Amino acid sequence: MRSMNGTRVVVIGAGIVGAACARELALTGGFQVTVVDRGGAAEATTAHGEGNVLVSDKGPGPELRLAQLSRRLWPETLAAVAARSPRAADVVRAVEWDPKGGIVVATTEAGAAELTRFAAAQRAAGVRAEPLDAAALAAAEPHLTRDHAAALHYPEDAQVQPAAAAAALLGDALAHGATLRTGCEVRGARTRGGRLTAVRTTEGDLAADLVINAAGPWSGRLAARLGAPVDVRPRRGDILVTAPLPPTVFHKVYDADYVGAVGSSAEDLQTSAVVEATRGGSVLLGSSRRRTGFDDRLRPDVLSALAAKALRLFPGLAGVAVMRAYGGFRPYVPDHLPVIGADPRLPGLWHASGHEGAGIGLSLGTARLLRDLVCGAEPEIDPAPFRVDRPAVLGASATAPSEESA
Ligand SMILES: Cc1cc2nc3c(=O)[nH]c(=O)nc-3n(C[C@H](O)[C@H](O)[C@H](O)COP(=O)(O)OP(=O)(O)OC[C@H]3O[C@@H](n4cnc5c(N)ncnc54)[C@H](O)[C@@H]3O)c2cc1C
Repeated sequence: MRSMNGTRVVVIGAGIVGAACARELALTGGFQVTVVDRGGAAEATTAHGEGNVLVSDKGPGPELRLAQLSRRLWPETLAAVAARSPRAADVVRAVEWDPKGGIVVATTEAGAAELTRFAAAQRAAGVRAEPLDAAALAAAEPHLTRDHAAALHYPEDAQVQPAAAAAALLGDALAHGATLRTGCEVRGARTRGGRLTAVRTTEGDLAADLVINAAGPWSGRLAARLGAPVDVRPRRGDILVTAPLPPTVFHKVYDADYVGAVGSSAEDLQTSAVVEATRGGSVLLGSSRRRTGFDDRLRPDVLSALAAKALRLFPGLAGVAVMRAYGGFRPYVPDHLPVIGADPRLPGLWHASGHEGAGIGLSLGTARLLRDLVCGAEPEIDPAPFRVDRPAVLGASATAPSEESA
């Protein structure tokens, strides 16, 4: 690894991706890391994710390889963070790491054939995907509909409490010398000889040798402000949260058509049934996808579509109390792959963004990849598919006007 002694890094965004990147760089001991956020830590998209760390919804390819790397890193990273914390038990409790496994259910014969084909390809790529017969499925999820055509168990799927996980990662970065500036918005760049030398913020200039754009769904707008636009846009998602229930849902359970909704680029509403419990007993009913800019209104048509699909999987939830609903903006790139690496148009600028609906799970692998690239080390996985200068990222070269407000 190249020595980076004293290199000043500004990480823009204190969500889970920025926190994970700041931690990896701070742990090397060679960087002076400053994390800046216009709000507070983990207050934005990261506070609105469900916290699934999934391999089950990814087909063979670069995103799955990043997910597999991340899945390996999660338990070892959390153990290391907790071991270094003076409040290890509190960290473990707050982060709620739960390797509960996922169950994917196909409710039609066509869906069953597609799920079986998808799982075979995943197995060839090293994913554990185990068919469940009716009896095994009923034992695993007693309240799940019996009206299904096929089901698969993915034992590697897991869950974390995303905001707590981000706080733990950030806390570890701070313990290793990083600093955090909240309420500090980045407005633009200062350059010398075509190289980024500082960011302009609402609190004055911050000098930097490296700047990492980890601004989640605002990465497109931030990159444009810095003079190197990338096509990262918001893709809205909403969730219904029930009041705490006695144990009812034991895995992450979702309809096989979820994978199609994730991979779709449609602007209009996509919904599929995604149901899981949190450690507090609430059941989360998701998920929706819509591209309507930063419009954060909760809409009855979306929430009723979510509820209807979830009830097809768990009819017994029809009478439970819904405590609240919330939504957030996934950072979407048209080719559904994150953007990780140096920006060739503006030396000094790096991006770690565009994780769409998987940024919680993928944060650790992203940060490890970024660290290796920054330090000139051999990355564990091929970084090329995530590079900045690919057509999907630079093609439109700017966020579409309708998706730019807020
Ligand atoms: C409903 C829903 C469910 C989801 N479920 C899951 C899931 O189960 N599993 C999963 O892995 N992912 C899930 N996701 C996706 C996941 O939440 C995101 O991919 C992830 O949180 C992105 O993290 P981030 O750090 O990139 O962005 P953010 O958490 O949004 O952080 C970006 C930060 O940048 C700051 N910022 C922006 N502009 C500026 C600026 N100019 N100056 C300073 N600061 C700035 C913001 O204030 C923000 O704090 C879900 C998303 C939604 C909406």
